[in-house]
Amino acid sequence: MGVAEDVCEYCLECTVKTGCPGLNVAETLHGPKITTDESNCVNDGACARVKACPSFEKVTIRRRAPVLRPALPDASRLIAPKPVAFDDLFRVYVAGIGGMGIGASTAVMVRAAQKEGYFVQFCDKKGIAIRNGGVYSHVTFSKKEQVLSPIIPYGKADLLIGIDLLEAVRGLDPDYNLRVASADHTACVVNTAKNPTILSLMGVDDFKVSYLEETLQRFTRKEEYWGADISRISQKWLGNVIYDNTLMLGVAFQRGLLPLSLESLLGAFHESFGGAARENNLKAFALGRDLVVHPENYGEELPQSLASFLDEKEGALRKSHGRSLASRYRRRMDEAFVKIPMEDKERKQLALCFYELIHYENLAFANSYLDRILSFASRDSAAQGHAATRIAIESLYRVLAIKDEVWVSHLLTSPEKYARDAKRYGIDPSRGDRIEYEHYNRPHFDVLGMKFEFDLNSKDWMLKLMRHAKFLRKLLWNWHAREKDFRDWFVHLMDQFRPRNAADYERWLKVMALPQDVRGYRDVRYPKMEAAKAKASELLEVLRGSGDDRFAGLAVDSKKK
Ligand code: SF4
Repeated sequence: MGVAEDVCEYCLECTVKTGCPGLNVAETLHGPKITTDESNCVNDGACARVKACPSFEKVTIRRRAPVLRPALPDASRLIAPKPVAFDDLFRVYVAGIGGMGIGASTAVMVRAAQKEGYFVQFCDKKGIAIRNGGVYSHVTFSKKEQVLSPIIPYGKADLLIGIDLLEAVRGLDPDYNLRVASADHTACVVNTAKNPTILSLMGVDDFKVSYLEETLQRFTRKEEYWGADISRISQKWLGNVIYDNTLMLGVAFQRGLLPLSLESLLGAFHESFGGAARENNLKAFALGRDLVVHPENYGEELPQSLASFLDEKEGALRKSHGRSLASRYRRRMDEAFVKIPMEDKERKQLALCFYELIHYENLAFANSYLDRILSFASRDSAAQGHAATRIAIESLYRVLAIKDEVWVSHLLTSPEKYARDAKRYGIDPSRGDRIEYEHYNRPHFDVLGMKFEFDLNSKDWMLKLMRHAKFLRKLLWNWHAREKDFRDWFVHLMDQFRPRNAADYERWLKVMALPQDVRGYRDVRYPKMEAAKAKASELLEVLRGSGDDRFAGLAVDSKKK
């Protein structure tokens, strides 16, 4: 299952109704969007059956040859460190969530420790399948046979391996009996990939990776802290995040944090896995080792620069609309960048909104958007860093680009979407790869006062026909009437923007952001539109009461304007 991120409104109906851990969150220039986690999705189709939106699609990929992945390191060239020395006991705590292979990494460590001649005690706590529950392992190596608790005493772990960042931090929590790590005792190796919890997917909770990393650094041995987005590396080099666990064993080993020799560990891998699993886990272990020795080979991809982004959009417009329109696009962007001081990310956002509105209707429509933004900016405050304009760029775009069936069809079949999918799924047509889609749509039409709504499993060719049917917007005058009414209301509101003091300005910032809370399709969206209008009314009440006659008639219904 895939989610078309341009079509997703981030209303969270799918995550709330399914609680599916195969869903994830991706950051885009239009804000966060839901995506599917390729490693965790089990393709049961529950997200699409919610019928909340047309974002979900079944993706079928046919290949003639395996996906080309970056070359794996040659493990024989890596020099193995000496096992870490210890006096009597050495304790390792492994933290993660169900499905991450905590038990498998424990099995490898326990078998390797027995080969070293240690006496081993361990305790695994199992979670509910995939991400619904925390899983941990306590492993204690002892040089002599003795009676030991299988649980690591308070703050006494020598090594914390956090395959999940959040669960690693729980290992520091003094409110529970699992406070195993401490600043004077514990070295830490952690995967900094953000795995959303069910509550954070539902939008009722959230956490910051940077805060959790700082916490780990404060409460473990700072000089022995090591963190990286292991899941990104595992996905890119090995095609799946299920190897995070053994990749991290490789990191811990190569940093000299385990009292285990390479020979014992390799022997333990052979005993713990068979067939392809053995081969892949050994590759992951070598990859983790190489990551410690050559971190420069595994850097993050840099975000696309503004210049390259604009070149790309101009080039796309040249293909779709001709040279003249493409140059006008670029000239209008240059004009806007001079008039509105913004950071590159915000400039890219404006350039994307303008570009998409050309596709939504035409250049005249996109120009009317940009003219409104420039007029708004001329009334905005330089002292406030044009904060209201920077919010209005996205808000005005959202109310103008109504996600009707024509626009959704475009977004589901745009060249940008195909290019993104090709990169995501590793599609290379020159090697014989083919990708096919089945989209789960529920079109709705109002014809002569009658409403038609039906389920449609559409193919790309159908949507490619539909995306050209812009004439329907004029023909079916009542089509998406409530969204149009909301659009007109907000456009009128923007025209009233003339804050007189800092308190007014603060109020306007909140008003300008309101359309960004209006998310979702049809029945999910309508109550949010009414709530936004009511909130704006409440925020602007003060201005109405101040005798400012611009607001005298600004009631909830835009028709009264
Ligand atoms: S639009 Fe809402 S229901 Fe659809 S994928 Fe996005 S968050 Fe989920």
